[in-house]
Formats: sequence, C-alpha cells, structure tokens
Amino acid sequence: MAEEKSSKQQEPIDYSKLFNMRVWEGIQYKFAKDLGIAIKVISEDGMINTQESNFSDFYRILTSTDAGQQICDIKAENIPKETKFVTVYADCSYLCATTYFYGKKFNVLVGTKERRYDAELVKKLALDAGVDFGQLLEAYKSQPLFSEGRLESITDLIVDLFNIVIELSVQEYITSRANRKNEEEIAKMSALMDASVIINSTRNLDQLLKIIMQSAEKVMQAEASSVFLIDSERNELYFEMATGPKQEEVKKIRLKMGEGIAGWVAYTGESLLVPDVSKDHRFAKRVDEKTQFITRSVICVPLKAHNQVLGVVQVLNKIGGGNFSKTEIKFLEALSSQAAIAIENTNLYEHLEERAEQLNVDLKNANVNLSIQKLRIESIVQSMEDAVLAVDSNKKMVMINRVAERLFSLNWEFDKGKPLINTMPGGDIINNFTTVINEKKITKTEVKLKIGNKEHIFLAFFAPIIDEKDVAAGSVAVFRDITEIKELDKMKSEFLNMVSHELRTPLTPIQAYSELMMVRDVDNAKVKKYADIINKETQRLGALIGDLLDLSRMDAGKGLSLSLESIAFNDIMTTVYETFKSASVRHKIILTLPEKSAIITVDKNKMIQVLTNLLSNALKYSPDGGDITMKTWDDEKNLYFSVKDQGLGVAPEDLTKIFDKFYRVENEKVKKIGGTGIGLPIVKYILELHNGGVTVTSEINKGSEFICHIPKTEQ
Ligand code: ADP
Repeated sequence: MAEEKSSKQQEPIDYSKLFNMRVWEGIQYKFAKDLGIAIKVISEDGMINTQESNFSDFYRILTSTDAGQQICDIKAENIPKETKFVTVYADCSYLCATTYFYGKKFNVLVGTKERRYDAELVKKLALDAGVDFGQLLEAYKSQPLFSEGRLESITDLIVDLFNIVIELSVQEYITSRANRKNEEEIAKMSALMDASVIINSTRNLDQLLKIIMQSAEKVMQAEASSVFLIDSERNELYFEMATGPKQEEVKKIRLKMGEGIAGWVAYTGESLLVPDVSKDHRFAKRVDEKTQFITRSVICVPLKAHNQVLGVVQVLNKIGGGNFSKTEIKFLEALSSQAAIAIENTNLYEHLEERAEQLNVDLKNANVNLSIQKLRIESIVQSMEDAVLAVDSNKKMVMINRVAERLFSLNWEFDKGKPLINTMPGGDIINNFTTVINEKKITKTEVKLKIGNKEHIFLAFFAPIIDEKDVAAGSVAVFRDITEIKELDKMKSEFLNMVSHELRTPLTPIQAYSELMMVRDVDNAKVKKYADIINKETQRLGALIGDLLDLSRMDAGKGLSLSLESIAFNDIMTTVYETFKSASVRHKIILTLPEKSAIITVDKNKMIQVLTNLLSNALKYSPDGGDITMKTWDDEKNLYFSVKDQGLGVAPEDLTKIFDKFYRVENEKVKKIGGTGIGLPIVKYILELHNGGVTVTSEINKGSEFICHIPKTEQ
C-alpha cells in the first residue's frame, strides 16, 4: 500500500492515458465502416483526439495530400462551445454530441449531414488541397449524407458505446493499479485486454461469452463458470452460457428472480463471494440436484451496462479445493463489464441490422412504387403531343419522347446518355438547360430551330429536376411547336389591317360624293353619276361585309344556309357579266355561253357571289389589263363555269394555299393590291356546299383560270 501511495504522488493521473484509445478506435472504425458514416471523438482540451474514421472517397481524396490533411484535421479549438453541428471543410456538417470523462468534456462528431450542392466550394477546396477538381467533385456528389434524425439516432448509440469504453478504461486502470507488479494480476490484465480485442472483432455473442468465460476459468482456476441473462418479461434468469462438465444440463434450468446466489446478485446488483455454499441460505440446491454437480464455493458478479443489470456471471469451485480471494471479485467484475459491452454491442448491432433489414424492405416497396410511377409518367410523356427532353446535370440526355425524336432527328437507343452538345442542333437550348440547372428556376422562352429547311418556332418550358437533397440533378424541357400559331397570328393581324383598309376604300368615295350632293347645287346628270358611284361602292362594301359574315359563319361551324331554286345557269352568268362589263377600261370581259342553258338547282345569290369573287380577283390581279373570259358548259354529270385572266398568275407552290383562309401570296406586286384573303375560301366553301368544287391552273405572268363544277343532280 505504501508503494502504491508513493507512486500516486510521483505520477499524477494522466487521464488521457487512462482512456483505452485502442479499443475505442476499433469500435469507432467498425461503426464508421459498417454504417458509412464519419466519426471522430475529440476532447475539449484536445488531449484525446481520435483519427477520424471516414470511408468516403471524398475524404480519401482530400486527405491524400498534406495540405488536404491539414484542412480535414478538426481541432478542439475550432469547435464552438454550445453547438449542435460543427461545419468543417466544404460545408460538411457533423452532429456534435457531448459526454464527460474524468471531468473533461468530449465532443463526439458524427457526419455528414445532408447539404446543398455547391460546386464552387469544392473547386476552392480542390485548389487548396492540391487535388484533382473533377475527381473530388464526383466524390463529393456521391458522399453518403444523412438526415438530422438519422444522425441523431446513430450518435446516441455511438455516445453510449463511448461511455462503455470509458467505464472499461477506468476498470482496467483500477485493476492494474491495485495489482501492479503482481504476475498473477498481469495475467488477469492480459485476459482483460484479450476480451477487449474480441469485443472489437466479433459480433457473435456465444463466441464472445465463451472466450470471456474461458479466460475467467483459466485465470481464476475454476472448475466451471456460467452467464445468466434476465428474462424481464417472466422475471426469471436463464443460462445464456455455461462451461464445465455439466454445461448442457445447466442450460435447461431457469431461476426465479432472487432465487439462489445468481438470483440474489441479479436482484441486488451487488457482487457476492460465497466461500462455502452449504453455509449460505441463499444457495439453491435444486440446480446441483438436477445437474449432479457439487458446488462448493462461488463468486457471482452482476452484468451491468448503464447501471442496468442484464444478468450475472458466476465462477464455481477453485480447482484443487482452495478459496477464491476478494481481488478475484474485482477481476470478475472487470471481466463482466467486458461481457456487458459484448452483450450491448451485439444488441446494438442486431438492432442496427433489424433496422437495415426494415430499411431494405421499405426500399424495395418504394422501388416497386417507383417503377409503377415511372411507367405511368413514361406513358404520359410518350403520348404527349409536345416534345419532351430531359438531361442530367452534365447535360447528358436521360429521357426523350417520340415527338422529340421525330422533331430533333434523335434516336433514343443511339443517343441516350450522350451530351446534348453532340446531338442537338441549337446552342440556345443547351444554354437554357445550363441556366435552369444553375439557377434552379423554371423558365419559359421561345426558341428557334431549323428543322429540315424550315425554321420552326417553339415555346419551350425548362424546369430543373430537384432531388431530395435540394440539388439540381438535371432539367426537363417541353417544346411546343408554335410555328403555325405564329404564322396564323401574323396572318390575322395582317388581315385586320387589310379589312380596315378595304372597308375604308369604298367609304371614302361614298362620303365624298354624298357631301358634294348635299352642299352644292348639282345638275341632274351629275346627281345620276354620283348616285351611280355611291351605289357601286355601296355594293362593294356590301359584298365585303357579306364575305366577312360568311367567313364568321364558316368559322363558327354553323355553315351557310342555301335557298335553292332551279335556274338556267346562263342567266346567272349574264347578270354578273352585266355588272362587271364596264367596270374597267383596261380590261375586256368576254362572256361565252352555250346555246341551250343548263338548268340547275343552286342558291342563285351564292352563285353570283362566287362569280363576283372570281371576276373581281381576275380584274385585281391583272393590273396591266387584258381579256377576262367567262365561260360555262356542261356534260352529263356536271355543270362547269370558269373565269380566266391574263394577269399576274400564281406560282405553283401557292396554288393549293390560296384557298386557305387569310392566305395572300407573299409577292411585292400582290401586296400592292388590296385584299383580305377570304374571297377564294368562300368560293370553295360555297361550291362544296353544292357538292361541287374549284380547281385552278395558272402560270406566272401569263394568267390564271379558275374552273368551278357543280353536279347536276345531287344538290
Ligand atoms: P384576296 O384577293 O382578298 O387577297 P382571295 O382569297 O380572293 O383574297 O385570294 C387569295 C390570293 O390568291 C390572293 O391574295 C392572290 O395572291 C391570289 N389570287 C386570287 N385570284 C387570283 C388571280 N386571278 N390571279 C392571280 N392571283 C390570284
């Protein structure tokens, strides 16, 4: 004792040496590796600072250089006093839990918490650490991240384990101090150390307990030993493990809480040395009777973890009949605390394994749901009439639908996974994807793309694909071809301009001549002339308004109503001819009629409208004058009539389009001539209402001929 006292004075306790770093780093390593998390323990004063256990590629690449190691080295002074999270290199946040040992505060750091993607930060880090940016960025993206809740639950376990190692360290210290220089004690110490190593290296509880029991028997020279665990549901003790000659029989026996020496130790939580069981009333004879083992002396200690008794360890009969000593109680207590760690550890692992299994099942279910969702989304996307194209954050194609394949001349099988820059025609689109991924905002824009030899206009929506970590994992774009809408828009506004111009043209002379007649005294001849002009212009206005009304009826899908009558078609031709014959001095209108007129059932006024439209076009589009020939003839089935001019003619590519609503030929000469693009559509429509039709033959600068036909019987 004197020796011990003086050694105490010479050597003040260095708590950092008390701590069993080797065992802890082993546990820390195993946990970090199994769970893919990062762990580090650092005391507030920096005396204990474990090597960070971190198996991520990100950490590995970073710490491959000296500069990187410096960056990653978390120092005690850099951890704020009251903090839940410590943020270290590149925004990596570690949960910081605290525990105490020997009056010192310890920070247990567990990471990494989910974070936002920040390539700029990684770039700077790569530069500072002197490592390859590309590699580091890849590793950064695949770094395992944990939600705050998950970090909390894992950290709880780790702190518990850490506390157990602290307890163990103290036990070890006490035992070693008490028995210094005692060879027998050295053997006990090494048995304890072996037990620590085993705890660290195996998760098999049976194997662990067996080795612990064997160490106890060997060191204490006992005949047998056993471990009981508490079945808290039944308030009983059962043999978890027994050694010695009768181990199999022993295992079948259960003890009531408080029954026998083991039951008493389990109940009180206190160690007990019974040198002669025959003199102790607590001894339960029934076990010996059942196993036919004769118990003489017993050391029994509780198995305690976190002050909770999990069971008891007992050692029976010294070989050769000697007595157990009190120091052997201490040894068995130290050993039992190892066993308690072993049990706790196994429970923890089992618990974690269970959770991992559950997570696995959850994941599988989620995967099935995801596949169903994916199929649904895919069929929706494929059946869309708009082009859909999705890329990842590197702008590599991850999905396209059929419309996109057709429009952008892509082939999914061939182009999937390729960078957009190699497959898409427009640089604009790639820039839009870049902006959307960087800014994580939806954008709507018009993009122009040349497809074949025509420029198409698309209304494009670009949206970022945000993953559960709030990082832009790519972008999806929807392209709607609005080329036709745009053209129609342009045509409509041109049409409006035209219509207002066309309406104003006849109004001006009407207004002017009517004012003349009101203000001045004009002779009868002039009155007739002015009234004639006013009448003609009014008719023009009426015809135009009639056309507009017809058009709006056609647009509304109501159709025009026909008032049919049987009529000699020659009469209709003559009526129109009479109206137009002296309309222009530069033109000569020729009417050719068959001797015997065909009698046909038509809407007379509508037929006049058709001929009027054709004749006024013939006049308008032959600005240099010429002959205009009106003809009618018939065969068995049809009645035909035509209007032929010697004017501007129509280019072959426009021949089909001139019957479309609002279409006007894009040509300087035509543009100078007023018009609305509704005359010919109405001609076509009226003829179709009569089950007939219209065709045109034309040659540029030579003239055009519009030939109409109506079946004789089927109206
Ligand atoms: P509008 O004459 O009011 O423009 P239309 O529907 O009657 O509208 O004609 C459509 C287009 O067809 C005209 O703009 C013109 O370019 C062309 N067109 C029609 N008739 C003739 C013709 N007789 N000769 C040459 N071009 C014609």
